Amino acid sequence: MDIYKKLGVQTLINAVDTYTIIGGSTMPDEVINAMVDASKHFVNIDQLQRKAGERIASLTKNEGAYITSGASAGLAISTAACITGTDPAKVEQLPDTSHLKNEVIIHRCQRNGYDHAIRQVGVKLVEIGNVDITHTWQLENAITDKTACIVYFMASTFSKGALPLNEVIKIGKKYSIPIIVDAAAQLPPVENLWKYTHMGADMVVFSGGKTLRGPQASGVVLGKQELIEACKVNGSPNHSLGRSMKVGKEEIVGLLAAIERYVNLDHRKIMNQLEAMVSYIQKKLSFPGITVTRLFPGPVGQTYPRALVHFSRESKHSAINVKEKLEDGDPCIIVGLTEDKSGIIINPLNLQDNEVDIILNRITQILNNDE
Ligand SMILES: *Cc1c(COP(=O)(O)O)cnc(C)c1O
Repeated sequence: MDIYKKLGVQTLINAVDTYTIIGGSTMPDEVINAMVDASKHFVNIDQLQRKAGERIASLTKNEGAYITSGASAGLAISTAACITGTDPAKVEQLPDTSHLKNEVIIHRCQRNGYDHAIRQVGVKLVEIGNVDITHTWQLENAITDKTACIVYFMASTFSKGALPLNEVIKIGKKYSIPIIVDAAAQLPPVENLWKYTHMGADMVVFSGGKTLRGPQASGVVLGKQELIEACKVNGSPNHSLGRSMKVGKEEIVGLLAAIERYVNLDHRKIMNQLEAMVSYIQKKLSFPGITVTRLFPGPVGQTYPRALVHFSRESKHSAINVKEKLEDGDPCIIVGLTEDKSGIIINPLNLQDNEVDIILNRITQILNNDE
């Protein structure tokens, strides 16, 4: 609080999602303490990456793990890995991909802001399908001797029109094309840390700064040892494409601590707490024209509930208006908005217990005051 106060920067209550633009998530003490410890000594970064990677691989039931400065960096570095393997000449050549495998297959319906991380490796994205449907023959026809990999986005918001992951894996295997899965925010359930690679995906990318609550500037690539080795040569501290995506000793150790904590959490208990918060919101918010329902699953398909506060036509208030008032108040509260703008969405994932009452009091005040 103090550091932000000194800077004149307002703190926010995050009732929306693990959005990077508002700080992603907060770090538990285990993570902070590990980072502080790590900051006090010099170490060989290659050795630290290897040892922390081995621990993370074992905790997540994967062959290998490479720690990055985020899921976005993970996309760039894993794509580079598919192009170069561990060949130093190819690593040196990137992002110039002439005469190298320089095509990455992606569903047209999965194009999104994060594909910039793939394009920065110097590849051409080859789109398949359309927003409604993609056929397996379209994927097969897109594969050429220039294909470096297939990138698949797991978020449920990108599933409409896409082939299911197992179909993509089947075809990838048939043509020996590696598959990278972006599962940046796909937690919970914890099993997702190994689900996609156990299904046959070659690498999967998670953000360290979202549900894992590791350092903001951390992420991890999990998967086949051979490709993880190829990630390493493309990443910092090597002078390679990933040098500008440096991950420090503090982030490496912090992410390990976060993953260790996360896999050992009592996930059932946490789920019950999130459910309890949603029920509490349902019980407490009672206004004419307003209904509160349990929304499931989470924003990109995660297994946790949110509270949807719907404003009917009879309500004197509109969802947009209430959302703006919550943001303009003190403290500033950020909530979500439904696609049709008829309701606000309260996400309990990042809320502390006392913050639920702060939000409810503020909403009650807005609705009572007829503001
Ligand atoms: C958040 C996100 C990323 C980026 O994660 P960072 O760790 O912030 O780099 C990539 N892909 C998807 C789908 C995301 O939701």
